[in-house]
Amino acid sequence: MKGIDKIMPKKYKPYSRKDILKIQDVAGLSHELSDAIKIVSAVFPFRVNNYLIDELIDWDNIPSDPIFQLTVPQPGMLEWHDFEKLKSLYQKEVPEKEILKTARKIQMKMNPHPADQMELNVPVENGTVYRGMQHKYNETVLLFPHQGQTCHAFCTYCFRWAQFVGLDDLKFATDRADKVIEYLRNHPEVTDLLITGGDPLIMRTKVLRRYIEPIIRQRPGNLSTIRIGTKVPAYWPYRFVTDKDADDLISLFEEVVESGFHLAIMSHFSHPRELETPIAQAAIKRILSTGATIRCQAPLIKHVNDDPDIWAKMWQIQVKLGAIPYYMFIGRDTGPKSYFKLPLARAYDIFSNAYNKVSGLCRTVRGPLMSATPGKIMIDGVTEIGGEKVFVLKFIQGRDSEWVNQIFFARYDEKACWLDELEPAFGEKQFFFENRLDEIKAEKDVFHKASSL
Ligand SMILES: *Cc1c(COP(=O)(O)O)cnc(C)c1O
Repeated sequence: MKGIDKIMPKKYKPYSRKDILKIQDVAGLSHELSDAIKIVSAVFPFRVNNYLIDELIDWDNIPSDPIFQLTVPQPGMLEWHDFEKLKSLYQKEVPEKEILKTARKIQMKMNPHPADQMELNVPVENGTVYRGMQHKYNETVLLFPHQGQTCHAFCTYCFRWAQFVGLDDLKFATDRADKVIEYLRNHPEVTDLLITGGDPLIMRTKVLRRYIEPIIRQRPGNLSTIRIGTKVPAYWPYRFVTDKDADDLISLFEEVVESGFHLAIMSHFSHPRELETPIAQAAIKRILSTGATIRCQAPLIKHVNDDPDIWAKMWQIQVKLGAIPYYMFIGRDTGPKSYFKLPLARAYDIFSNAYNKVSGLCRTVRGPLMSATPGKIMIDGVTEIGGEKVFVLKFIQGRDSEWVNQIFFARYDEKACWLDELEPAFGEKQFFFENRLDEIKAEKDVFHKASSL
């Protein structure tokens, strides 16, 4: 393909907490900052790689560079007293084990499993727990392949951070393609399989084939779309172009498309810079050449992309490169949420101001939306009804499909950052979905207790 031959291969080199001195050497970090990173990364997972270090992070703009904020744990992510406690342990040079013990206590305070994913989303049927799968919305099943539960670099705001610090034991994962196929056969309502993680494209193509090939061969149920949720086009685009098995990966994508399935690469792009390098653009071109589509999504995050110009520019580049803007999320309530969070009112402003500036082809994007226990809920407006200022909210996805596309109202609250901080408008006692949600939760509880999940 034109232009690709000019790109030099790069050998993947990860950097983690133990490599901070090496990063300090490359990047010229101050001792104070590198000590702080070391302290905070005892609590939060930390991994960057040589592409981020050489090509994406702007080392002349530290610490406010958005890609630095996106990937390197920051002092402000810990509460002051937790930070000071860990710092004093370091200064006393206590054994690493002691430091990690204190860090674990801090992790446990930080809502490691938001939105009840484990209890409510993992299917249980006829006494079988379908581990490594989630089925929350009728049409789409999530698959978490065992070997795909890590990433080429970690986002500091990741809502799956708990599994990268060993809190989860990969409870979410499976290595059984046959179980997924069995489940899809029994569920004709499912049209989409979303392979996710971690990042499934961390897997070698040979391993990814073990999941995908049986599915496209056996065509279970009414499956018509395979989606792959990934950050690799942003964090390691060489995966699609010059890595040893890049050609095989591209062939696999072609095989999926040729077998008649729609293949959607659900790409996580947080900042336009991730789309600007020649290698990222070559990767996108190569993915699209297979007949796959690329749909782009990311959360809105303070210090990283809390500016309408960033989003407008990002959507425009995506469309220019042939990718489709899809969702703007609100960061989930987990981990260092207080460092990254923005009020819903501010999120709505940023979305609207960005949306105003772009053509209709960029407006395939929807948001800002919360992926919460009842469903994906979009903030669709701020208005006044009968003298009361309200948020107009809308279900984009619902745990009960009856809720989808319904609007409802919450009292306007300048400070609220998540659904659970909102009150129903017009003096109502509860939101319309709450009774039904309690029922659903109670049903699931019975199943899960019976199977001792
Ligand atoms: C977002 C999400 C999906 C996919 O939803 P779409 O609106 O179809 O993209 C599926 N399952 C879960 C649990 C999700 O959070």
